[in-house]
Amino acid sequence: MELRKVQELDVAGRQVIVRVDFNVPCRNGKVCDATRITAALPTLEFLRDRGCRIVVLTHLGKPNNEHDKHLSLQQVFDYLAERLPSVQFASEVPGTAAAIARSQQVRTGDITLFENLRFNPGEQANDRAFAASLAVMGDCMVNEAFSVSHRRAASVSTLPTLLPSAAGFQVQKEVEFLGSALADPKRPLVAIIGGAKISTKLPVIRALLEHCDYVLLGGALANTILKAQGVAVGKSLIEENMVESVKDLSLTTNKLRVPIDVVMAKRPEAGAAASIVAVANVPDDELILDIGPESVELYAKILQTAGTVIWNGPMGYFELPAFAKGTDEVAKVVAGLLAVTIAGGGETLDAIDELKLGKKFTFLSTGGGAMLKFLEGAPMPGLVPLLKA
Ligand code: ADP
Ligand code: MG
Repeated sequence: MELRKVQELDVAGRQVIVRVDFNVPCRNGKVCDATRITAALPTLEFLRDRGCRIVVLTHLGKPNNEHDKHLSLQQVFDYLAERLPSVQFASEVPGTAAAIARSQQVRTGDITLFENLRFNPGEQANDRAFAASLAVMGDCMVNEAFSVSHRRAASVSTLPTLLPSAAGFQVQKEVEFLGSALADPKRPLVAIIGGAKISTKLPVIRALLEHCDYVLLGGALANTILKAQGVAVGKSLIEENMVESVKDLSLTTNKLRVPIDVVMAKRPEAGAAASIVAVANVPDDELILDIGPESVELYAKILQTAGTVIWNGPMGYFELPAFAKGTDEVAKVVAGLLAVTIAGGGETLDAIDELKLGKKFTFLSTGGGAMLKFLEGAPMPGLVPLLKA
């Protein structure tokens, strides 16, 4: 996948709209995880240094309407203003006449963050007229929002068809690392997929089975696959309506692996008595909440041989320390490898962050859902318009 790049776009002296994903977790009006903001800064600084006038657009949360003030981008601006000189806040809602008028006042070197795109319903409706009203705010546009590029939205999938457009530095990195992991990996290529829902991750598991030498499963999603194979899973979290759809996944090849032992408890609560059993021995009144030590050891042995590792999804209910060991051990093993190591997903990155292992990974994706879609090989509505002819 070859995208047009921001460094190839004719930007000197132009007004550039940068679509970022500053939909970051905030609490009491303060940003609590700035990863996505930090990732976009090189593109903003690059454009500022080239004498551009910069219009920054993003959504935040899922506002009902424009009066959803706790989803104002003012709080993100407050964070940004401490790190970037020359940043301004425009409280005008993008797409309005007032926002267009305000965009005409942006000066050379200014970085102006506008109010929440989703305060206008046209954003999520991918409304063409709304996209056209955004296009008036700049001469060209840069997509620096990989994490929303799997969605159709006016500023993501339509705006880049209306203006000269290109990928920002972080988007370029995402496509480079995730793309080459699939297309030209150092082998063996090992994927680790865990997390909650088999329904959201089945397509990526199937795609990875095509590319990978091993696919190691954990988390609640493995329970549904075990159940489909006739293994008793007790009261474990499963998706009953997915059992039929995963029956064809073969566990008798070497490639697809499920846990061989598990940590279980009667309740998914801190303080519940946890025990370790072979995967076939889960009684009716227990829940599988983590992979067991033998599974960790087996996965570690496979991982030690890897040339490339792609990881998404925790191995267990890691929010509770009693069920975090599988995830923590896998994180430590992967972090210690000399292989190319790539991880992504909200909870997965939380787990890595908690262990302070982020720097030991080759690449951390800013996309959760977007990373999965990309690995599936699904067309990305925000990237397709940026493809080189
Ligand atoms: P990511 O955001 O990294 O893609 P997911 O959102 O798919 O990950 O899943 C993370 C969630 O899955 C976590 O909140 C974790 O508690 C839950 N989970 C993992 N394994 C289990 C399990 N065995 N039982 C219940 N919940 C689980
Ligand atoms: Mg998640």
